[in-house]
Amino acid sequence: MSTEHEDGQKPRVGIFYCGGAMSSVGELTHEAAFEVLKQLGPQEVGMGCVSALAAGVPNHFETMQNQEKVLVIDGCPNSCVRRIVKEKGAKMDAYINFGNDLGIEKKGPFKPLSYSQEDFERAVDGVTAKIRDMEGSSE
Ligand code: SF4
Repeated sequence: MSTEHEDGQKPRVGIFYCGGAMSSVGELTHEAAFEVLKQLGPQEVGMGCVSALAAGVPNHFETMQNQEKVLVIDGCPNSCVRRIVKEKGAKMDAYINFGNDLGIEKKGPFKPLSYSQEDFERAVDGVTAKIRDMEGSSE
């Protein structure tokens, strides 16, 4: 049996992002989440795998259930990850939707790189603020 998930380090906040590659806001969830990982470091944040969650892979499910906190990020009002998380009964402590909460315009289909620098900065700031809120609420 693989010990990959047992031996891995445990960040304070696990993130599920939609990564919807067909549109600007979906791709932005990926870009912003990884920028936050670079800025805060792996002790603070770690990425979950939404595809594995949707597919029902047990190791991935358990790993994310065992995180102290889980943040779910969706790019647009379709709210795909929130729906998957609810359907699978997975952990979600906080939620941010780039369309509904940050007012970032969705461009697509097949325009994953059509977001502006301002969109990127707003997304990174929004995710960072949400993580800071989550950390504050656990003290
Ligand atoms: S939430 Fe929106 S951007 Fe993300 S995967 Fe679903 S449809 Fe695509």
